[in-house]
Amino acid sequence: MNVRDSELICGILKNAGYKICASDKEADIIIFNTCSVRQHAEDRVWSLIGSYKGSKIIGLAGCMAQNYKERAFQRDANISFVAGPQDIYKIPEILGKLSSGEFFERKIWEVDSSQRPEEIYHTGFFQDKSHAYVVISEGCSNFCSYCVVPYVRGPLRHRKNKNILMEIQEAIAGGISKITLLGQNVNAYHEDGVNFTKLLTQVNALEGLKELGFFTSHPKDANIELFQAINDLGKLSKTLHLPLQSGADRILKLMNRGYSVKEYLALIDSYRKIVKNGLLTTDIIVGFPSETDKEFKETCGLIKKIGFNAAYIFKYSPRSGTVAAKLADLLTKEEKEGRHKKILDLQRRISNKLRAKHKYAKA
Ligand code: SF4
Repeated sequence: MNVRDSELICGILKNAGYKICASDKEADIIIFNTCSVRQHAEDRVWSLIGSYKGSKIIGLAGCMAQNYKERAFQRDANISFVAGPQDIYKIPEILGKLSSGEFFERKIWEVDSSQRPEEIYHTGFFQDKSHAYVVISEGCSNFCSYCVVPYVRGPLRHRKNKNILMEIQEAIAGGISKITLLGQNVNAYHEDGVNFTKLLTQVNALEGLKELGFFTSHPKDANIELFQAINDLGKLSKTLHLPLQSGADRILKLMNRGYSVKEYLALIDSYRKIVKNGLLTTDIIVGFPSETDKEFKETCGLIKKIGFNAAYIFKYSPRSGTVAAKLADLLTKEEKEGRHKKILDLQRRISNKLRAKHKYAKA
């Protein structure tokens, strides 16, 4: 999502007459488009901002901007402006004010918008010449207990169906042949009688498009209709990313994920029956507050049983303001690191085995 948001920022700045530099050394203005999902990402941003002293205008955009608001200036006096994810469209105006001399303190923050104007999706700026990300929905209303996204990106909003199709047609006209549809929970898409599978069918039918993918799905909104579309639509990737997060029902409940292990397994079973040779990837969080050794082993057991082609595995990172951040976290750093390493090793072995099998089957 942030890769696309960075393109949106580049697009509106280019249209406003700014030049996008190939290196930070040439640039007069540096904008950090940030993620708040884990502490590690935040720490890296603060450290990078700290490395720029003096002459450049430094902007903080995205989720950290929304989270810190004007407190960002106390954290690092180098920052000249702050723009939340819904306010990125104001960046040219902010830069205009900063260079006008009207603002002696050179500090501006914009974090109040609830909606982005549709125009920012139509600047035609894509980093890649053949592949484009297209946002179909913004925000999220799921409130998984560990996640900061609903707080910083606001409730789920769906873009209009006709606007999404228009953006994709513009991209195709500009030479793009591969599209990835983006949202925090794409399966929940619903706008004016068009649900996600209908949208996939519409995009699949567009002339000039060669490949189609989407990211990311939520198990509680995944269904047989979606799996059928993955199987049937010729341009659609036969890969499903379905975040599991934990293999223990008590932890899934504490995470407020809205499904049980049994329901997740039933989905996988349907997917594999419908999408022949479909690939499957997932996300796992280890060391969630109060996760016992037995529950961790249940997650490992489920990973073995399902056999994901790949998994993104994260150590739990408390995010201020979330429900999980208030839960007693008795696990030590060493315990979390130990579990993280064990599960990474396990997944690596499974991925390698499946890759070899896939290669062998192809040969
Ligand atoms: S579905 Fe859950 S984890 Fe994903 S963005 Fe929404 S709240 Fe966060």
